[in-house]
Amino acid sequence: MKIGIMGGTFDPIHIGHLLLGEFAYEDFGLDEIWFLPNGNPPHKSLAEVTPGVMERVEMVRKAIQGVPYFKVSEYEAIENAHSYTYRTMQHFSETYPQHQFYFILGADSLFAIEQWKYFREIFPTCTILAAMRDDKDRKDMEDQIRYLEETYQAKIELLQAPLLEISSTTIRNRAGNGYTVRYMVPDTVAQYIREKGFYKRGKSENTGMS
Ligand code: ATP
Ligand code: MG
Repeated sequence: MKIGIMGGTFDPIHIGHLLLGEFAYEDFGLDEIWFLPNGNPPHKSLAEVTPGVMERVEMVRKAIQGVPYFKVSEYEAIENAHSYTYRTMQHFSETYPQHQFYFILGADSLFAIEQWKYFREIFPTCTILAAMRDDKDRKDMEDQIRYLEETYQAKIELLQAPLLEISSTTIRNRAGNGYTVRYMVPDTVAQYIREKGFYKRGKSENTGMS
């Protein structure tokens, strides 16, 4: 089977993530997408992660409920020490040698990948599907893809998904400031955020509105 891996902090998961999964599934003829919530992300400050890891997993579960080809992997969530992508991808390719893996990421991650621990070890395990987050990134992304392919023998394809100017940061700030997050996350997730009072402490960053 062809498996798309959609890693992220998912704090919270939002429609940008879900659409990436959906478009990767269709455009690359994938069989399943495995959403992979990070444990304690090594490159993100813990202070930003308001709900616990299992609550982030629960938001992913609620978001993908009823979609048979969307799954959640708790691999990184359960074992924080495994939160390096190279380890996870080595684990997946050793455990499931019958599958081909496609690692889905957004442009920001494509440009940061050389800062990831042992990032070279990721390339032999999968094809990377890189999505734009902004149309102005296209030329830079094509250059970065060529550079990574030539330098590290990486296999990277551009993934065309709708460009949504939406991020978990915007959602946390909006929820923290008492604004609605409806339509930015699935209803079930919006309801869960409201019930649990996530992000309430609210930092005084802007809300994404001007
Ligand atoms: P945060 O604002 O907390 O960084 P985020 O919205 O960037 O959250 P992450 O969990 O950091 O979400 O991202 C997981 C993956 O999804 C990354 O590869 C990121 O590039 C990608 N991604 C997130 N939002 C979008 C979007 N709107 N369009 C395309 N890719 C996205
Ligand atoms: Mg991010």
